[in-house]
Amino acid sequence: MIKVAVFSAKSYDVESFSKVAEKYDIEYKYYDVSLSLDTVALAKGCDAVCVFVNDKCDKPLIDALYDLGIRLIALRCAGYNNVDLNAAYGKIHIVRVPAYSPYAVAEHAIALLLTSVRRIHKAYIRTRDYNFSLKGLTGFDFHGKTVGIIGTGKIGKIFANICQGFGMEILGYDKFPAPDFPGKYVELKELLAKSDIISLHCPLTDETYHMFNKETLKETKKGVTIVNTSRGALIDAEALVESLKERHVGAVCLDVYEEESNLFFNDYSGHILNDDVLARLISMPNVIVTSHQAFLTNEALANIADTTSSNIVGFIKEGKYLNEVCYQCPKKSECMKKREGKCF
Ligand code: NAD
Repeated sequence: MIKVAVFSAKSYDVESFSKVAEKYDIEYKYYDVSLSLDTVALAKGCDAVCVFVNDKCDKPLIDALYDLGIRLIALRCAGYNNVDLNAAYGKIHIVRVPAYSPYAVAEHAIALLLTSVRRIHKAYIRTRDYNFSLKGLTGFDFHGKTVGIIGTGKIGKIFANICQGFGMEILGYDKFPAPDFPGKYVELKELLAKSDIISLHCPLTDETYHMFNKETLKETKKGVTIVNTSRGALIDAEALVESLKERHVGAVCLDVYEEESNLFFNDYSGHILNDDVLARLISMPNVIVTSHQAFLTNEALANIADTTSSNIVGFIKEGKYLNEVCYQCPKKSECMKKREGKCF
């Protein structure tokens, strides 16, 4: 039986992976702690480790896993910016779940947006207190507004289709435009200048790191609502706070935050938050933060458990490299994967 150490395992992970474990003949060992040099020993005797978005797999950690005999890191997420791919190349194979439910993420982005614009989070608290005043709850119609979508892949396109239903003008910016995107592609500068709402759906890369910084935030339309369900470090959070304080950015919806890794997915109620930037953001009436929950639907969790298990069995029992990431290896010019179905 294949043994897999699952790190950062929450109750919903245990539930969804336990449902498929028997079918794939995998023994999952669940650990609530994140994978780090302090916890890596828990993977001893396992065939693979299964990690999530905030388990940082840097070079020392990859070397430690390799020394334990681990040859597979199965990411139970789509993004892989938390893994040092250079360090992994030639040593440990990395597989992921490229699409588990793009609907879950796109719909959460819309949920955040509607909540923010129509002040539902404020109204909910007021009416529970029998406060039926409408003062300060004025929103705006989506119909006729311009939404700018950065990254028009699986999630960005679904988000665009929903916005189309609202009757919005849709602008898109992507390095690789998609033929079936329902909006108009423009340069980033034009998107920033014209959009009433901006939603981020591109991956975090060296190129997109702090795509929203002091300068680019100034290029956005005054009063813009920014939604980020992609990766926290797309936005320089300190610059965002400044822009909110200057009353330039009108509202922000964040499901991700650049320093989330030590906070999100854990309960710190009753503690004093050490992160002043996040505390400031949360304190603002026009900021909504959810803790990386856009993926959290029954459908997505079932797909994650199923695809991850199939990736693991494929690699360990069948020599198949299902959903392996691209390591951007030195042999890029003659892609080994295309030729032999594997990277190394
Ligand atoms: P995808 O690969 O289908 O689409 C990403 C798009 O971004 C592609 O069209 C790509 O061309 C574009 N892109 C790449 N570099 C770009 C750049 N420099 N500028 C503009 N566009 C660029 O990915 P997806 O499935 O739509 O997921 C998008 C992101 O959503 C993921 O990278 C991940 O970070 C995030 N995500 C978040 C959650 C969550 O729970 N909050 C869950 C899943 C995914």
